[in-house]
Amino acid sequence: MMELGKLSTREFSDYLRECGVRRFFLAWDEAERRVVTSHPALQPLADLFSADRRDFDRHEGLFVQYAPRSSTLQSVAIHRTSRGQGAGGTRYWGYDSTEEFLRDGLRLSRGMTLKNALAGIWWGGGKGVIAREGDAASEDHEHRRRVYEEYGEFITSLRGAYVTAEDVGTTVEDMAVIFTKTRFTTCIPEQVGGSGNPSAPTALGVVRGMEAALRFREMGTLAGKQVIVQGLGHVGLPMIAYLLDRGVQRIIGSDIDGHRVAVANERFAGRNVDLRRAAPDDTSVLAEEADVLAPCAVGGVLTPETIPRIKARIVCGAANNLLLDPRRDGEIIFREGITFLPDFLVNRMGIVTCANEQYGYADPDPAIERHLGESWSNSIYRLCLAVLERARDEKRATSDVALEMAVERSEETHPIWGDRSRRILQSLIHGDWAG
Ligand code: NAD
Repeated sequence: MMELGKLSTREFSDYLRECGVRRFFLAWDEAERRVVTSHPALQPLADLFSADRRDFDRHEGLFVQYAPRSSTLQSVAIHRTSRGQGAGGTRYWGYDSTEEFLRDGLRLSRGMTLKNALAGIWWGGGKGVIAREGDAASEDHEHRRRVYEEYGEFITSLRGAYVTAEDVGTTVEDMAVIFTKTRFTTCIPEQVGGSGNPSAPTALGVVRGMEAALRFREMGTLAGKQVIVQGLGHVGLPMIAYLLDRGVQRIIGSDIDGHRVAVANERFAGRNVDLRRAAPDDTSVLAEEADVLAPCAVGGVLTPETIPRIKARIVCGAANNLLLDPRRDGEIIFREGITFLPDFLVNRMGIVTCANEQYGYADPDPAIERHLGESWSNSIYRLCLAVLERARDEKRATSDVALEMAVERSEETHPIWGDRSRRILQSLIHGDWAG
């Protein structure tokens, strides 16, 4: 029997076409206590997630479409909507298998639930993933436009249960294309009233996390410290600038993309930076001598193999889902005596900046600034200190404490809209959305 999860995203798209399936969903069925799907032929795929429940954490829905004009597989995972519509960016990335593609959306959407809840914003957790076939650099403009037009139509079909934003592999220009097909997007260009690229505020928020960790460890300020930044992308670059402004003595950085390394070297020429190109499986930068390690590339970099090699006493980065296995690796990093601030605790500024953009903006904007300051008890700085102190007092891993806090808050119900998003999802699941 064909193992659907092992098919490449292209093979799986062909399979869907052969079966005449344009759209399908996977959803948690509380009565049956398993993951069910809209199409019986796809039940073996759903069973994968019932067998290994780590990623399918009672998600309210995982929606997938085969987009015929761009021949891409597109998905939206919605984890929990108690606090509001699922909100989170769309990732455009290549995957080795269909199972990997689906699991990434599930993990990332859960991360958004946690992040949004800790940030105190009234949004639930969702994430979009589009499977990129081939190399992004050689992709033609027309193809890309088709991808995002079809993705916009897909989001419209979800009736507002999910509101998208920019993420790895997508740009503000892509969001503008999505915006031509759906109102349910953020991060649209500033010229049309959007908030644009949210990455610089994200970087600043993570820096505030580092400052909280340094204070907690009585290591002073960032001035004179050495920091490793893995990933020289939209977040990594402004982060280096903020760090240098704060007097960081030396930065070590890496990226797999030679062009990005060249751009970074040009921008920071004359400063004490060592920025290099690394192979995708080269994790040596994580083990460099430093005070703070900031992984800002991809998730899953903190593993039983990498953690024992880390010399930095603080790990605080932007990349989502840093721990490969949150429970296991959170414990390992705790036992190693490393002060770890989970990504969903410190990388909130992207979503904070864009999620409420339809409410307008002030300059400076207190609704944004308070997250970066020290007077609000739920600011990044203050919440990090609270998590670190509680973890110390209870002798627990910070990842464990932050997770517990986030889950509790994620179950609070939106003060105005109650369970409306869940109702929308139920109407999709029990209606004719999947045909
Ligand atoms: P980006 O795509 O602009 O940058 C990521 C960079 O990492 C790229 O230059 C890529 O080449 C590089 N990279 C990939 N694999 C690598 C590896 N193994 N070693 C070294 N470099 C590698 O993305 P971004 O917007 O800068 O986001 C970075 C991370 O932060 C992502 O995980 C993203 O999900 C997360 N994040 C971003 C935001 C935001 O506002 N942009 C908000 C929250 C979380």
